[in-house]
Amino acid sequence: MSNIKLQNCPVCNETHFQTYLQLKDFSISKEDFTLMECKGCGFIFTDNFPDENSITPYYKSEDYISHSDTQKGLVNRIYHIVRAVMLQKKAQMVETMSAKRKGSLLDIGTGLAYFPQLMQSRGWQVEGIEQDADARQAAAQRFDFVVNDTPALLEMKGRNFDVVTMWHVLEHVHQLDSYMQTIKENLADDGLFVVAIPNPGSPDAEHYKQFWAAYDVPRHLWHWKPEVFKKFALKHGFEVVATKPMPMDAFYVSMLSEKYKRSSLSFVKGVFWGKMTWWKSLNQPEKSSSVIYFMTKL
Ligand SMILES: [Zn+2]
Repeated sequence: MSNIKLQNCPVCNETHFQTYLQLKDFSISKEDFTLMECKGCGFIFTDNFPDENSITPYYKSEDYISHSDTQKGLVNRIYHIVRAVMLQKKAQMVETMSAKRKGSLLDIGTGLAYFPQLMQSRGWQVEGIEQDADARQAAAQRFDFVVNDTPALLEMKGRNFDVVTMWHVLEHVHQLDSYMQTIKENLADDGLFVVAIPNPGSPDAEHYKQFWAAYDVPRHLWHWKPEVFKKFALKHGFEVVATKPMPMDAFYVSMLSEKYKRSSLSFVKGVFWGKMTWWKSLNQPEKSSSVIYFMTKL
């Protein structure tokens, strides 16, 4: 096991940090972790996180639904329904924001590749990147587009994608700088870079504190509040041109957070908090439980 302790803030290079929150990996290892906050810019990160070679066991669970098709339990069932609805919404958003009906799209961290599949069916040229070999294989068996491993992404050169998407992926990425650089180099000059990440500045994060399910340590290494994410984007040559809420996430995250709190009536309370966050995010996307950032190259 080898862990990484950051010396410099990936956003502003500051070297002074303070403890933000003590919390636990509720879903898999049950180990304790600490979130640190940069004194310079407010960026939050998981302290002492497992490096790329040591993090795999923290993903090994049937309960880790992003990469599996398990339908056990009420929360999982809801997740699958929400996923189908969200896929359609994502496709519509990408087409509206890119002002394109057809084009080329790269989905990084594509999982079982449902999103590129949907975009392909709408007329897009699609490719995926996925680090999990089983997920890649499943995609290869089902779909007729390329899904490559992560090293292929970092070696990519001279491509001109109209859209690059990372749906709930950037918070998992160890090699932040290399990813951002590669994406910038392979995105068309008028291309759109779309990133969805949890929002630790949301009302549900503030309510649930250490139980907030979207901290998901140590799988989530980075936790950006909207104002910090905009600085991070600028550092890498991107401008955030729009933000949108991912409203359904609030319900899912709140229900899971209630489960971690071991609350009675976790479903009802989860729906209540989900609704509170959703309601606030209607005209304030940056209060959403998860925020979608639409970026163009500077
Ligand atoms: Zn900083």
